[in-house]
Amino acid sequence: MKYIPTIGIECHVQLCTKTKLFSEVDNDARGKEPNACVSPVDYALPGMLPRLNGEAIKLAIRAGRAMNCKINASSRFDRKHYFYPDSPKGYQITQFYQPIIGAGYVELPSGTKIRIEHAHLEGDAGKLTHFDTYSLVDLNRVDTPLIEIVSMPDIHSAKDAHDYCKELWRLMCYARVTYGDLYNGNMRFDINTSLAPEGADKLGTRTEVKNLNSFRSVERAVEYEIARQTKILESGEKVVQETRGWNDATGKTTGQRSKEEAKDYRYMPEPDLPPINLSDVFIETESAKLPLMPKDYREKFKGKIADDILEILLDYPSLMKKLDEVESKFAKIISNLFASVLLSEEKSAEYLNDLPTAKDLNELAEMNEKKELSSTATKEVFLRLFDPQMKGRGAKNIAKELGLIQENDLGALEAIVDVVLAKPETKKAQEDFKAGQEKVIGFLVGQVMKESHGKANPSAVQEILRKKLS
Ligand code: MN
Repeated sequence: MKYIPTIGIECHVQLCTKTKLFSEVDNDARGKEPNACVSPVDYALPGMLPRLNGEAIKLAIRAGRAMNCKINASSRFDRKHYFYPDSPKGYQITQFYQPIIGAGYVELPSGTKIRIEHAHLEGDAGKLTHFDTYSLVDLNRVDTPLIEIVSMPDIHSAKDAHDYCKELWRLMCYARVTYGDLYNGNMRFDINTSLAPEGADKLGTRTEVKNLNSFRSVERAVEYEIARQTKILESGEKVVQETRGWNDATGKTTGQRSKEEAKDYRYMPEPDLPPINLSDVFIETESAKLPLMPKDYREKFKGKIADDILEILLDYPSLMKKLDEVESKFAKIISNLFASVLLSEEKSAEYLNDLPTAKDLNELAEMNEKKELSSTATKEVFLRLFDPQMKGRGAKNIAKELGLIQENDLGALEAIVDVVLAKPETKKAQEDFKAGQEKVIGFLVGQVMKESHGKANPSAVQEILRKKLS
């Protein structure tokens, strides 16, 4: 029997607000000591009251619009109760009944649309580090603003699961609602996977794998769950509904918590925060701040840049923005330089934040187009545009200073060729060539290049040599 996998994904996105969701302390705890970014509100000291960070609302609107979602004019917060040392309040403040972001969809590069059920705002929990006989609590992450994005079960393969997570990441980065630092858990994915016989009208029993933080681990975990569940169903047994953990080293999921132990969160409206009411003007003003999105760039550069290059560059919003600024006839050559030269540089991460001006890039592309620069010289000048010493001098001046401008003037080239052909040490090669030894043309071109200090256009030189020696 053939089984069809169905996958739904929940994604937590850490928002890049200055301060936390309900308090005034720094939201960016990178490089700080544990418990350095914790206010009395985050500690839940008696009498402390949360105060909503308006910036988080703005980011949520942009995030929602990036996913083609309806923004709900009215939403509110709820308490989700659980007892664990990572949450001093004893509950999480989330949006259970009326989330801020309604239904929408995300379109994958393949064109497949994955519907979004809703997305809600909530505060994150702290972090526990466990040792043999004790655990340490770090509350820096308590009430960092998150949006949790819940997809519909529209995904049916490990590859689409991968592509969906990656596209979500791109959308959130382009919308500038998160730093998008996956290594530090800025986006975390929970995947629900079930299998049902082909043609069945009901979904099978699902398992949930929580807290994946890379696209690759999402893809592998889905692949593993599909294989594991297929084996169970084929042997006539039943899949157990449970939460499973992913082990990246072994490439396997293992059972953690079954449905019988599922918690009752006793959701109730949060009495300390008023409902959020947004005017149309407020929603539209914030939505208008969305820059061009991956989909816009795909439409814009279709046919102008190779699809595979475009998909690589789309991971870097600053590169796409720059490509949009250069003259459109130069988009192809500049995109190739970005993909093959810039991204393979050791310092590329640094370079991405400080790109050359569109004017410099246009100038460089034009010199290449006019064959004033060979492709090697084009790459060299391109890299010099990032050099703090060279910056600001202009691509053309840099090319001149480095002596890289190719001599294309036929009269001038002919004069150099004549000088070389008059040299006694080239006589034998000339005779060999005339006698039919094709290969020696390379030696002669080399001599001319040397005489021109590397500035001659080699293909033009070869043409002149052939004419003169025939
Ligand atoms: Mn959540």
